[in-house]
Amino acid sequence: MEPYRRVALIGLGLIAGSMALAMRRAGMKTEIVGTARTEATRAEAARLGLVDRVVDTAAEAVAGADLVVLAVPVGAMGAIAAEIAPHLAPGATVTDVGSVKAAVVAAVAPELPGGVHFIPGHPLAGTEQSGPGAGFPELFDNRWCILTPLPGTDPAAVSRLRALWQALGASIDEMDPDHHDLVLAVTSHAPHLIAYTMVGVADDLRRVTDSEVVKYSAAGFRDFTRIAASDPTMWRDVFLNNKAATLEILGRFTEELFALQRAIRTGDGEMLHAYFTRTRAIRRGIVEAGQDTDAPDFGRIPVRR
Ligand code: NAP
Repeated sequence: MEPYRRVALIGLGLIAGSMALAMRRAGMKTEIVGTARTEATRAEAARLGLVDRVVDTAAEAVAGADLVVLAVPVGAMGAIAAEIAPHLAPGATVTDVGSVKAAVVAAVAPELPGGVHFIPGHPLAGTEQSGPGAGFPELFDNRWCILTPLPGTDPAAVSRLRALWQALGASIDEMDPDHHDLVLAVTSHAPHLIAYTMVGVADDLRRVTDSEVVKYSAAGFRDFTRIAASDPTMWRDVFLNNKAATLEILGRFTEELFALQRAIRTGDGEMLHAYFTRTRAIRRGIVEAGQDTDAPDFGRIPVRR
């Protein structure tokens, strides 16, 4: 499979930065050109030497690129597609890394000219950090990258993009954009909303002081705070753009919560025990699939006081 000669990264944050570093780790000769919205981010990326060339505009970045990666918040994808459309090289592939797929397809596809391959994508890898300094080359190792190509997409263009993600360390799955959005509503979007809510509740609860919440956070709360520290713009856009699936899952979540609440009130220990036994098996499945460590407390080393 012929590797890409020039890759344009639009957005220079955690995901784009990690892609650039992983391409270098893989020894690719590809020229990597990058741009971001603000001068501060462009200057930081240049200082870190994240890409070969940092340019001021998305239009400049895509000139002569055979792969363009949209790595900006989901809500910004459509406007960027419109901006780059007249400057895309014929036969180029445009992909994205957005956490939502159907809304991105609806916003981007109509903007792109014929003769350009649009292959939406989403690497299921990330951290709660953002910006050009947040990236690291191992981010995609042993993670899934989901591609949601539209019917009729050139299979050779899809194979070429698959080969890139494999070289970055990921395994690839393909699915329909709507199905992707439902799967991610369960595995990522609803859990983030629940974490945001729990941290918000702790913040509002005046009977427990802030210092107590912080001091005793290792009892479970700490794991919510990591998720709830994720980038506010990215997550606002995820919920605004994956409305239907997230609301469906949150509806089911609320029903389950009421059932558990009732079991606690009525003292139904059998129900609680059976429920927690079922959920424990899911954790085991994730560990067995190699998607997390089985070390106690995620292998954290106790912090010395
Ligand atoms: P990030 O670190 O916050 O970087 C976002 C980049 O987008 C920055 O370079 C930013 O430029 C640029 N940007 C922000 N708003 C923009 C706008 N309105 N127009 C043009 N550029 C804009 O974000 P990230 O974590 O890499 O996320 C990028 C994409 O990957 C998102 O679509 C997200 O859904 C997806 N994703 C994220 C994760 C994760 O865990 N973080 C995982 C998988 C997929 P400035 O700094 O100059 O503003």
